[in-house]
Amino acid sequence: MDHKHVEELFEWIDEAATAIEYQENSTYLEAVAGALDVLFHHAPFDDMADLLKQQLEKHLKDIELNKYEKEEIRKATQLAILKGMKGATQQQHLITPDTVAMFMGYLTQRLFPGEKELRIFDPACGTANLLTAVLNQLDKKVAAYGSDVDETLMKLALANANLQKSEIEFFHQDSLRPFLLEPVDFVLADLPVGYYPDDVQAKEFTLHAEEEHSYSHHLFIEQGLRYTKPGGFLMFIIPNFLFESDQAQQLNEFLREHAHIFGMLQLPESLFKEEKHAKSILILQKKGEGTKTPKEALLAKLPSFKNHTAMADILGQINQWFEKNHSS
Ligand code: SAM
Repeated sequence: MDHKHVEELFEWIDEAATAIEYQENSTYLEAVAGALDVLFHHAPFDDMADLLKQQLEKHLKDIELNKYEKEEIRKATQLAILKGMKGATQQQHLITPDTVAMFMGYLTQRLFPGEKELRIFDPACGTANLLTAVLNQLDKKVAAYGSDVDETLMKLALANANLQKSEIEFFHQDSLRPFLLEPVDFVLADLPVGYYPDDVQAKEFTLHAEEEHSYSHHLFIEQGLRYTKPGGFLMFIIPNFLFESDQAQQLNEFLREHAHIFGMLQLPESLFKEEKHAKSILILQKKGEGTKTPKEALLAKLPSFKNHTAMADILGQINQWFEKNHSS
C-alpha cells in the first residue's frame, strides 16, 4: 500500500466534497457520499447545478481511479468520513477505527482457516469500513451482506463498496426487524450501544427488558445469533461493561444456552477517550452439532497497536491459542 496514493485520493475526495457541500448546502458527510458517487461514475449528476458540474468535470480530469488498490481506496474514504464525523454528528455516527478493523480481519482469517467460501453479515455496517477491511483480508470467495438504519451512512457504505469493487448486498433498515436472509457463516458488528426505542419490536427478543427500554446491544447479539448457521461464528465489538450491567445475568444465561464463548480481547484503552467507553472484541460460536466450548477461552488485553514489540508478542500467543484450540 502506498501512503502517497491514500493522501492523494483523500485530497481529491475532500476537494470534491467541499465543492458539493458549498454548492448544495449539504453537510460535509453527505457531500463525501456524493463525491464518492461522482468518482465511481466518473461524471457529475444530472441534477447538479451547472457550475458544480463544471467544477467536478474539471476535477475528474485529475484522477485515475484504476491506479488505486482497494485498501488505498478504503483508507482515503475513511479519512474523508472521519473528517465529516469530527465533532459534528451524533454519538452513533461512529466509524470502526482502522487498526481494530484490520485486527478483526486477521481474527476472521484465523476463525475460518480451511473454508474456501464464506457468507458474512454485518447488521450494523455503518460506512462499511469494518466490513470491507475484513473482506479485503480474506483469501476466500465471500458473499457479504450489510445493514444499517442510517441513510447517510448507507449512502457512504454503498459508494465505499462500489469504489472498492466489493460486492456487498445492503439492507437499509432497522436491523432488529426481520431480514430476507438465509443464516450466514459469520456475523460481525461493531455494536451500537444504548437503548432500543421500539419497545413493541423488542418483545420479539428473549433479551428484551421487562420494565424499561431494552439494550440494543443485547438485542443485536440475539439477532446476530438468529442469522448465524449452527456452528457458525460471531464477532462483536462490545462495551467492556457488557457482562456487568443490570441485565447481564439474562444475557449470560441466554449465551450459555445458545453459544460457546470463544474469546474476549480487550482493546487498548488508548483508543478510547474515556475508560467507561472502552471496548472489547467478543468471539462466539453458535451451538450446533458437534460444537463444544474450547478448553480455555482466548482471553487477552491488547497492548497499544503502536507498540510493535508487545503486539508481536500477543499475536504470537493468539496464534498459539488458535493452533491448540482451533486449527483445521
Ligand atoms: N462498523 C461501522 C463502520 O465501520 O462504519 C460502524 C458501526 S457503528 C459503531 C454502529 C452502527 O449501528 C451505526 O452505524 C448505527 O447507525 C447503527 N445502528 C444503530 N441502531 C441500529 C438499528 N436498530 N438498526 C440498524 N443499524 C443500527
